Amino acid sequence: MAQIDGLPPLRDVIRRHGLDARKSLGQNFLLDLNLTARIARSSGRLDDITVIEVGPGPGGLTRGLLAEGAAKVIAIEKDRRCLPALEEIAAAYPGRLEIIEDDALAVDMAGLAEGKTRIVANLPYNVATPLLTGWLEASWPPFWDSLTLMFQKEVAERIVAHAGDKAYGRLAVLAGWRTHAEIVLNLPPQAFTPPPKVSSAVVQLVPRAVPLACDIKVLARVTAAAFGQRRKMLRAALKSLGGDTPGLIEKAGLNPTARAEEIPVEGFVALANVFQQQTP
Ligand code: SAM
Repeated sequence: MAQIDGLPPLRDVIRRHGLDARKSLGQNFLLDLNLTARIARSSGRLDDITVIEVGPGPGGLTRGLLAEGAAKVIAIEKDRRCLPALEEIAAAYPGRLEIIEDDALAVDMAGLAEGKTRIVANLPYNVATPLLTGWLEASWPPFWDSLTLMFQKEVAERIVAHAGDKAYGRLAVLAGWRTHAEIVLNLPPQAFTPPPKVSSAVVQLVPRAVPLACDIKVLARVTAAAFGQRRKMLRAALKSLGGDTPGLIEKAGLNPTARAEEIPVEGFVALANVFQQQTP
């Protein structure tokens, strides 16, 4: 198959550098460069963009991002076995690929942002949710312009869900509080080497134009209480918060007989703000 760049096929790169996939590092590689270019394109035009990529591995998505014109890619990889393969890509795209050997959870990514910055990644599944919540809970407006991230399909559905959807819960409220999130690509297990047990999906998250103001810690508390007992009506589920539950629900403008899964993000933000006022 023709390559999108003059570099060797990824299967050769993996063989030459002995990059057998390690489960402990969530390594499921994308070897089809047409597919990685498509994922890169799903984040929008890349001309004047700095991309932070978490977990480049042998560099399939990295090559897609560079071939699609990203001004710069800053790739953070924990597995040092991958570094020589990534150095080859850096040499083919002089000055456009910076490689950082580190644990992405420990890196100050805001400090790496340069101009318009996006995060694009085929995330290691074991750290995907903590990374996402970290990006959503960090100071606002965010250092990133958008997030384009691969997740297990079931997690992707929990991120993009709306009130009334089966997958709607705490993660959807957190994502919806900060962003508009949608699935832009679905991928079967066979798209990866080795294939994972489950399907995957690429989610794109774009910050809300008008932020919904509230304290994240309080929002987390009210959503935990509400979804902790998701089959119960709000008037029962929110009792665990203590205080004047009927007054809280009324002031937030919500129906006491509704269940958590029926309350839109704005409703939880109202609950968080009233709860904060009521709590000394
Ligand atoms: N981007 C490559 C691709 O699409 O083929 C690899 C994706 S693979 C699902 C996840 C990558 O994240 C692996 O290369 C793994 O070594 C790396 N990784 C795992 N945990 C990490 C962490 N805490 N910080 C940075 N990279 C990590």
